[in-house]
This record gives sequence, structure tokens and C-alpha cells, in this order.
Amino acid sequence: AKTLRLLLGDQLNHKHSWFDQTDEEVLYFMAEMRQETDYVTHHIQKVVAFFSAMRNFSQWLQERGHSVIYYQLDHPDNEQDLTQNLEKLFKAHHIERFEYQLPDEYRLDQQLKEFSDSLELDSDAVDTEHFLTSRTDLETFFKGKKTYTMEYFYRDMRKKYDIMMANAKDPEGGKWNFDQSNRKKWKGAPEIPHERGFRKDVSALCKMIEEAGVKTMGSIDEQQFNWPTSREDGLSVLNYFCSNLLKHFGDYQDAMDPDQIYLFHSRLSFAMNSKLLHPLEVIEKVIDHWRANKDDIDISQVEGFVRQILGWREYMRGIYWMKMPGYRRSNKLDNQNELPDFYWTAETKMNCMHHAIKQSLDHAYAHHIQRLMITGNYALLTQTHPDEVDAWYLGIYIDALEWVEITNTRGMSQFADGGIVATKPYVSSGSYINKMSNYCSSCKYSVSKKTGDDACPFNSLYWNFLFEKREHFKNNQRMNMMMSMLDKKDPDELEQLVKRAQEIIKNPQKF
Ligand code: FAD
Ligand code: SF4
Repeated sequence: AKTLRLLLGDQLNHKHSWFDQTDEEVLYFMAEMRQETDYVTHHIQKVVAFFSAMRNFSQWLQERGHSVIYYQLDHPDNEQDLTQNLEKLFKAHHIERFEYQLPDEYRLDQQLKEFSDSLELDSDAVDTEHFLTSRTDLETFFKGKKTYTMEYFYRDMRKKYDIMMANAKDPEGGKWNFDQSNRKKWKGAPEIPHERGFRKDVSALCKMIEEAGVKTMGSIDEQQFNWPTSREDGLSVLNYFCSNLLKHFGDYQDAMDPDQIYLFHSRLSFAMNSKLLHPLEVIEKVIDHWRANKDDIDISQVEGFVRQILGWREYMRGIYWMKMPGYRRSNKLDNQNELPDFYWTAETKMNCMHHAIKQSLDHAYAHHIQRLMITGNYALLTQTHPDEVDAWYLGIYIDALEWVEITNTRGMSQFADGGIVATKPYVSSGSYINKMSNYCSSCKYSVSKKTGDDACPFNSLYWNFLFEKREHFKNNQRMNMMMSMLDKKDPDELEQLVKRAQEIIKNPQKF
């Protein structure tokens, strides 16, 4: 029987068992499509990264003797729609069997399920062999529990995969979590090595995307495209991370600086999310490197990194499959505002916001704490509708795929799920931003001021948020301290804070 196997743009797993053998009866199909470029406005670098990685992958498959049909965006037979393309190919190639790998996105999962159900030919969906948990493992793990604490899931994963364990029960180093030591502000030292960059010429690809009329955001250096888009590139970024960045990773994980885009972060999210690199391979490589360099690298740096991938990444995916499709509509705090235009221009006087947005527009990248403490914090404090916030995060970042974007954005950052991912909203005033970053000293606003024209906007927004949303937090123990501080505020001062916050919310472009 002649089989067609579909590969989606984020299913570039070289190690998948499908590719162990070549088979003349198997035809692989990959396509760049408007369906995928248009479901949200993506950053130009994200579109380029996916198309480049897909092209490299299809070439790799062909070099290994597999038959591949690859549709570029401008291919004359490309219907720009997944199921229409498939239907045409089934006819043209007399396909008798259809196989696909389980998509990570709900949208595509539904589309392919419905499509397969409607087919007369045999079809089958197989695992992507990428994640360390199945779609339902997390749900099973937390069955009957009221809260889904990431830490417990993470410990279980450490045991299950025997990662950094002293014995079957106890963690290496005597602690599961070294987060407390991972909270340093970066003050110009230690020196941050230049990222393992690339200088790829992607001008032809950019031209094709532009000529097709795909709407994108952000900018790109067409001669020096900087992201890993092949397995080799990914491995090289991973090696570079181990040799140069790992030893300070944990310490400066939450640090922010106006001139430092990547600090000691790995830049591996795109390579992992497109499946060029396997999460276990990343974890094992990092641990091997640490074991060989224990004099130089402390366990806290390594544990901090492992937790992100073995813990958070798998956890977010589990929450996604447990809570979709309802998750996409959640808006527990009933926020209704729009995102200000400066999310697309970086034109704001708030120094932290300017830098976090500018580097996102220029590089399709911001590290976790910039996404959470700066842009996410502002969006939540100004009570922005989660749909608006999601569309921005889903578009702008190189690594943004819904399963990990929406859980981080709606859940961790915006508290729109009412406390599934986070136990309290991640909001802060300017002083916490100042504690972790080097933004405030060169800002037009004064971080210590709460009212007056030069007061840091985060300060009044913070108190206003607590004040306006107080009903929502009545029964949230973790908010008790914040709420009692609110209750103790001098009423006149609170009135001033609320007034200034309202001005900011009404007229964000002025700030
Ligand atoms: P590093 O700091 O070097 O971390 C290593 C790896 O750990 C990352 O590559 C990533 O795979 C994993 N990781 C770290 N934090 C998380 C997390 N919270 N959830 C899941 N995995 C994590 N990550 C995405 O991959 N795609 C997204 O669309 C995305 N959207 C986000 C939106 C918001 C509002 C926030 C607060 C976070 C988001 N994250 C997302 C998580 C995190 O910010 C990125 O994974 C990270 O910044 C990628 O850069 P890096 O590879 O240099 O990460
Ligand atoms: Fe941001 Fe306020 Fe600091 Fe300015 S003073 S950088 S607005 S936190």
C-alpha cells in the first residue's frame, strides 16, 4: 500500500522511528502554507526560522533516501490549506494510507482528527517521540488534587527519569530545588560571552514571504539571520551553552539589562520546540558537562536549567492538553482593555518596557523574566484582555507555539485561568523591577515615586490593580499580605494612585 506521511513544521525530529528505514511505498509531505502563516501575525524571524528549518529537514530526509514532496509557499500546486493539499496529493499519488504525528496544537489536532475521520482510506496518528510525558500523564499525576503544583510533578519526573538523583528517592545535592540561589542582579560582571550566533543569508526566503503578501511583525537582518535552523546548528548552540554559559545560568536567570539580550540564557527554545533537539538529549548533555566540570560549575546552575525543561516545559504541555479548548477562553479577572500600540513599536518612555519590547521586535526574543515581569506584568496591571495578550506573545517570539505560549501567558503571566498554573497573579510595582534589572537608573521615571508626573507608572498601576480586582482575591491566601497592605493605605494616597493609574490606562501612549 502506498502511504503518505505528513510532517508539520514543528515536527522536525531527526530521531523519529519513522526515519529508521527507507521505504519506497512511503511518501513524506511537508508544506509552507498560508494556513500557518496567517492564524496570527508572526514575527518575520519566526516565519523564516520555521521555513528554513523545514527546508533543511526535508533536504536531510532526501539525502537519506526518503521520498519527500515539499511545497514552498509559492509552489504552484500549493492550496495553502492542509487538508486541501492532502486531498489533492492522495488522488495524484494513488495514496492508500495516511499517517501523521500527533500535533502539539489543539487547532491542528482537531483539523487532522476531523479530516482522518472523513477519509475512506486507512489512517493512523503516531507519537512524535519528542516529549518526556504523554498528553495525559500530567492529568493522571494530579488526579483528585485541587492544586497542580509544578514542584511535585518535577520531583516525580526527576525520579522517573533518574535525573540528578542520589538514590531512588533523594535528590543529588540534598535539595530538589536551588531556586533561592538563582536571584542575582547582573552588575556588569561576570562578563557575558557573545551568543553562539549565525550569519545566514535568508534574503531569498524573505523576498518570497514578502511577495506572497504575508503580514508579519518585527524586523530581520536578512544577511545575518541568527537562529539555529538545523540539527547541527542546534547542537552547536547546546555545546556553546554548556561550555560558556551554564556556569552562570542559574545565578542570572532572572536578571535584566538594557544592553544584554541573552545574558546567560541558552537560546534553545526554538530548536527544542521545532524538535530539532530532544529535551532529554539537552538535559543529558548539560549534566554530562557539569559532571566533567564540577570544580567550575555549581549544582544550582544545572538544577535551575534542568527544572525548566524537565519540569516547566512538560508541565505546561500537560496543562494544555488537560484544559484545552476551554483554556483559550479563560478570563477569570474579567480584563477587557486593548494592548497599547507601543507593543509593536517600542515607543514608550518606560525604559524597561522600551527595551523588552525593542529587543523582542529586533530579535524575536526576550527571556523569561522580561516576558513575565515587564511586558506581562504591564499587560496584567493595565487589565488587558487575555486574547490580546496571547496574540502578541504567540506572534512575536521565535519559540511561540500555542501549547507553551498560552499556558505561560494566560496561565503563569495573566492569571486568566484563575490559578491553575500560578497560585497568585504575577504583578509587581517598580521596586521589584529595579531589584532585578538595570533599567530604572536610566529611565525618565523615578522608580521610588508613587505619584506625580515623574512617578514610575508601575507603582500606581500596581495599587490600582489590587484595588480594582480586590473581590477576586478575597479568598486567595497567597494574596493576604498584599491585600492587607492595600487596606492600610492612606485613603488620600490611594485615591491619587488610582487616579494616576486610570490616566495611564486611558492614555498609555502618553507614558
Ligand atoms: P532558557 O532560559 O535558556 O531556558 C531553557 C529552556 O527551558 C527553554 O529553552 C525552554 O524550553 C524551557 N523553559 C524555560 N522556561 C519555561 C517555561 N516557563 N515554560 C516552558 N518551558 C520553559 N517558551 C516557549 O518555548 N514558547 C513560548 O511561546 C513561550 N511564551 C512565554 C510567554 C510568557 C508570557 C512567559 C512568561 C514565558 C514564555 N515562555 C515560552 C517560557 C520562556 O520565556 C522561554 O522558554 C525562554 O525564554 C526561551 O529562551 P531560552 O531558550 O534562552 O531559555
Ligand atoms: Fe520601568 Fe518604572 Fe524602572 Fe522606569 S522606573 S524602568 S518604568 S520600573
